[in-house]
Amino acid sequence: MTHAASDWDAAYAGDAPPPWDIGRPQPVFASLAAAGRFSGALLDVGCGTGEHTLLAAASGADAFGIDLAAVAIERARAKAVERGLSARFEAGDALSMSLPAAAFDTVLDSGCFHSFDDAGRARYVDVLRRVTRGGGALFLACFSDRQPGDWGPRRVTSAELVDAFAEGWSIESLEPATFVINPVMDVTEVQAWLLVARRIDAS
Ligand code: SAH
Repeated sequence: MTHAASDWDAAYAGDAPPPWDIGRPQPVFASLAAAGRFSGALLDVGCGTGEHTLLAAASGADAFGIDLAAVAIERARAKAVERGLSARFEAGDALSMSLPAAAFDTVLDSGCFHSFDDAGRARYVDVLRRVTRGGGALFLACFSDRQPGDWGPRRVTSAELVDAFAEGWSIESLEPATFVINPVMDVTEVQAWLLVARRIDAS
């Protein structure tokens, strides 16, 4: 199911950070940044406490992070100040907040896509398609069906990703990847997918 803003806020307000909030970028996104993939006007959807938004800002992008959890956005803003980085953060629901159309050259999603139920996912994919400029790139990492166990977020198959981004995108690559997490039952790495898609003809 899709969680409410209050659930996400609670996840960030506890004594220990939530599993995904590791205090540094996911290695898979760090590699993309090192390869010079984060540039131009960049939107980090479900940015959490901002590690990838700030990574993109440090890489020269004009970076904007949004998240449902106001607690996480406050933390992201504080990190930007601590690190002397310039990035913009706003609390809101990606499905309903006002975002400019065809405005972003680069869109990041680390762990947001897999948090939607089917109906939310369809609406979310519409938002991604609307906000990404023609020729712009989407870098999306989500939990994979290759991850065993029944804890944590919804598992996503590669076929679901291909299906979700069939319209208006060309898939540049779809590869197995991993998320590093704060330990959950001694697990510190989980199986993910990394999708790189290019927006074709913003229409
Ligand atoms: N990208 C971050 C956070 C991943 S957890 C990181 O890598 O650490 C998923 C995030 O998506 C949570 O912070 C949650 O609050 C956010 N989220 C979930 N649904 C959302 C929605 N509808 N709009 C904006 N953010 C959302």
